[in-house]
Amino acid sequence: MNNSNENIVYLNGEFLPLSAAKISVLDRGFLFGDGVYEVIPSYSGHLFRLQDHLHRLQASLVQIRLQFSLDLKKWLEIFTPLLDETKDQYIYLQISRGVAAKRDHAFPIDTVPTVFAMCSDIKPFEGAELGVKVLTMEDSRWEMCNVKATTLLANVLLRQQAVEQGCAEAILYRNGYVTEGAASNLFAVIENVLITPIKTAEILPGITRQVILELAKNNAIQHSEESISLTALRTASEIWITSSTREIIPVVQLDFEKVGDGVPGPVFKKINQLFQEYKRCYE
Ligand code: PMP
Repeated sequence: MNNSNENIVYLNGEFLPLSAAKISVLDRGFLFGDGVYEVIPSYSGHLFRLQDHLHRLQASLVQIRLQFSLDLKKWLEIFTPLLDETKDQYIYLQISRGVAAKRDHAFPIDTVPTVFAMCSDIKPFEGAELGVKVLTMEDSRWEMCNVKATTLLANVLLRQQAVEQGCAEAILYRNGYVTEGAASNLFAVIENVLITPIKTAEILPGITRQVILELAKNNAIQHSEESISLTALRTASEIWITSSTREIIPVVQLDFEKVGDGVPGPVFKKINQLFQEYKRCYE
């Protein structure tokens, strides 16, 4: 199946048009947000860091105690027919605990997980070239932010609050220390060192974050994984937010104050160039 046809999706063993893909109202993904997901970029038909995404998916499934696994070949049988190799796209994959006989918080017995995958084009993020504005906010999420759970209400409310004030992202903090964005990881350049918060249950272990750390290491860019206080963040000469669909986006205003010179900085330019080269040659 080839796809200039963005509308073909995968649901529970079938490929079908998006409008024909239906799930039960008793699906626990719908009732409780009881599921996990992944977003996997594909550049010209090559799924980027697929193994890392599948590894994180498996870790999320284990954390929510949902037993489900497929081998790489089986995943590719699901993803490949959705992709168009002439485009940059991303696969959205969601697995919920499935449809139970009745609504009850406790796990149902013998329920088959619902598996859904669809593909969308990656569109250049508006404002990426000039940099974006962000707002800091108290992190109101739960304590398992390392799980890529579909339960995203706190993230939705935080992002919305930022958007309503003309900002692209909410930068979250707990006890005075920055965690990540509502849908992104965070990097800052402070005293010429590229810093990102340590991997804990307070953040999602982003694949883009991992790639950036590898690029920094391989190209002798001074970097470190450590806690960043809000006070330290305000002294940063550069701030970026990172994610699979937006890649690396420079932040030029933090809480309506200029970051550095108020334009994308030199470390961003260097890493972004390395990232763009790497993603094109990644097989
Ligand atoms: N943190 C959160 C809360 C996210 O939702 C995302 C991406 N959706 C990220 C970080 C970035 O992760 P990745 O680079 O794997 O897309």
